[in-house]
Amino acid sequence: MRKYVIMGVQGSGKGTQSALLAGDLDLVHISVGDIFRWHVKNHTKLGAQVRRLVAAGELVGDDLVAEVVGDRLQLHDWNYGFIIDGFPRSRGQAEFFLESYDIDGVIHLDLPDDEVRRRVLARRLCSRCGMDYNLIAHRPAVEGRCDVCGGDLITREDDAPDALARRLADYHSKIDPVIELFRRKEYVMTIDARADKTTVQQTIRTRLNLPAYTPSEGEPVRL
Ligand code: AMP
Repeated sequence: MRKYVIMGVQGSGKGTQSALLAGDLDLVHISVGDIFRWHVKNHTKLGAQVRRLVAAGELVGDDLVAEVVGDRLQLHDWNYGFIIDGFPRSRGQAEFFLESYDIDGVIHLDLPDDEVRRRVLARRLCSRCGMDYNLIAHRPAVEGRCDVCGGDLITREDDAPDALARRLADYHSKIDPVIELFRRKEYVMTIDARADKTTVQQTIRTRLNLPAYTPSEGEPVRL
């Protein structure tokens, strides 16, 4: 059983790296942001509570987050373990998590703010099928159109420059202390996230003493 947390600023590749690790090791990949987006999209009661905050890139309250994460982990569909992404994002969340679960490691993807801006402002999402694009590394064949379903490519509301600037400031004020808290418990592995995704994945594997990563052909390139 392996239980990991992956942390890193927006655009640092948390989603991509988690997916690669989870796919290979049969871990359940839990993205708190995806859970919230699902609720917003499906107009649930929770979705209505968090819609404004998610759109503005502001953090949802700790109690609601603890409930969502607790409910998700309660499903116990993670026979081989989990990798949780986008959580904890505050000291309160970190304390709740440390009290409730033993973790095997915190993967901290480190990326300078300038590089975050460059990557995030290039992100696009298909409004129809949800496919991710990046105008730097994964451009669509036809500008503004999804290669898979032909849907319109849009910018996530929380990737807009204003929301991003707020998120970066928020990230440093809230996450730096969380990383410090985990660091004191010697859980944290800081990885340079400027490298390409294969190198980053390989470094994570080495640091966690896991089998080496073999990239499969035709894998979509995401930052
Ligand atoms: P993400 O996809 O991780 O960037 O998350 C998208 C949005 O979901 C964030 O801007 C927050 O509004 C909300 N969110 C996700 N994870 C958390 C968390 N751990 N604490 C509070 N809000 C969160």
